Amino acid sequence: MISPKADLHFHTTASDGRLTPEECLHLAASRNLKGLAITDHDTIDGYLQIRDQVIYPDLELLAGVEISCNYEGREIHMLAYGFDADQQELRDFMAQQRHVRRKRTRQIIERLAALGFDISFDEIMAESGRATISRNHIADAMLQKSYVASRKEAFDRYLHTGGPAYVQNEYADVSDVIDRIHQCGGVCVLAHPGPYYIFEDFRYFLKAGIDGMEYIHPSHNFQTQKKIKDYAVNYGLLLTGGSDFHGIKPFEEQLVGTVCVDAVRMENILDQCQVNMDKKSDMV
Ligand code: AMP
Ligand code: MN
Ligand code: MN
Ligand code: MN
Repeated sequence: MISPKADLHFHTTASDGRLTPEECLHLAASRNLKGLAITDHDTIDGYLQIRDQVIYPDLELLAGVEISCNYEGREIHMLAYGFDADQQELRDFMAQQRHVRRKRTRQIIERLAALGFDISFDEIMAESGRATISRNHIADAMLQKSYVASRKEAFDRYLHTGGPAYVQNEYADVSDVIDRIHQCGGVCVLAHPGPYYIFEDFRYFLKAGIDGMEYIHPSHNFQTQKKIKDYAVNYGLLLTGGSDFHGIKPFEEQLVGTVCVDAVRMENILDQCQVNMDKKSDMV
């Protein structure tokens, strides 16, 4: 018998995904997944839209979000799970992160203007709608105005990290993010660690209180999966994974139900949330 599976990394129209939260549910159910975490960038709006709908009784939904953080001047992504989505502090924090993104977007517009491109904030807002604003929306606005022939060209020529129109973010520091998520009863998992980190970085994250590592991800080969898994097991960390589905590229649909983890990983997350809460109440 095949063990039940869960996908713990999924984007919707609330950030930079193509499918609505409901459509993501349909897709996950059609691939026979038993667990799903919607992990939009810096917003829980997509998750909130579907959390009270029981369309598929066999498909468990886990509260999730992918938070952009500052780590020594670098942007890293932290997945948070199992938090209390009704806490006002969490909602305020998400709003603050999106404020930072809007501020950066205005700065990128200024850079683009200096390069001769006439793009307004409203034009970018028209691309993003109510979703978390990102460089993708700036690229799409450039495409709309035929300044570039594709999203890829916008990134390759102007928007890539260190590119002529790039502006560094002012996201919250990683340790601050971890503390805030713990306050809301959730756990923090380092997203797609890939081959980018050295053990020094991992030590820092451990000290900051990270709860887990994402070892299954489309960008990880078997060697990377193993390296991360060994590390996490050694330090008693949670192991998570998912397809990082955005629904933009044609091959992505094949990842859903394929790049996933045993559903028991979801139970492990919820258990750890409880352990953290118990520790917190022992301390007061
Ligand atoms: P942001 O959250 O504003 O920093 O934008 C990040 C998003 O931009 C990522 O989720 C990617 O989808 C996209 N992105 C980043 N770098 C590139 C690139 N070099 N080419 C195409 N898309 C990219
Ligand atoms: Mn994304
Ligand atoms: Mn990410
Ligand atoms: Mn992601």
